[in-house]
Amino acid sequence: MARYIGSVCKLCRREGEKLFLKGSRCYTDKCAIERRPYPPGQHGQRRTKISDYGIQLREKQKLKRLYGIQEKQMRGIFSHAARMTGVTGENLLTLLERRFDNVIYRVGFAASRKEARQMVKHYHFMINGKKANVPSMLLSSGDVVEIAPKSKDVSKITGGLEANAIREVPAWIEVDKNSLKAVVRDLPKRDDVTSMIEERLVVELYSK
Ligand code: SF4
Repeated sequence: MARYIGSVCKLCRREGEKLFLKGSRCYTDKCAIERRPYPPGQHGQRRTKISDYGIQLREKQKLKRLYGIQEKQMRGIFSHAARMTGVTGENLLTLLERRFDNVIYRVGFAASRKEARQMVKHYHFMINGKKANVPSMLLSSGDVVEIAPKSKDVSKITGGLEANAIREVPAWIEVDKNSLKAVVRDLPKRDDVTSMIEERLVVELYSK
């Protein structure tokens, strides 16, 4: 699948806020958005009027970039959210939160979602005692995520919990730092998504 391989900091600058795509660097004064808080490109500092459609599009792009997913996947997740009972926008966010790669990132095993996706693809984790390598898998309450036996001495993973302690683990996941296991206690709710997303705009865009 095609992947964006350009500078991820440009994505944050385009959206006008920190998307935390680069791990620990995002928490330092080297963060590009701290130094250049305007969109990238030659005309980035120009004032432009943005239409209602543009506002919706930017919100959708921000959500995609935050979770590192492609348009086709996003549309699939949206139609899943629309078929569920409840509010579509909230369903959309909670489905994204339940992704396997996002849980690895939230727990702190990886510095960014991109790194989490790569680790998952390389079979570094197990779900309920079985090896799993699909980043888009949705975790359910009661699922146990742990490091695969062969990866228990990969310092990047085992040391991740300490290194990424700057981020709080959300209340719907319980982490045991000694056994390096995480348990999904409950399904995430809208309030558990701390990123500044106006999901209503994304729903409006996809409902046109
Ligand atoms: Fe975004 Fe992180 Fe780059 Fe800052 S350092 S612009 S938060 S990816």
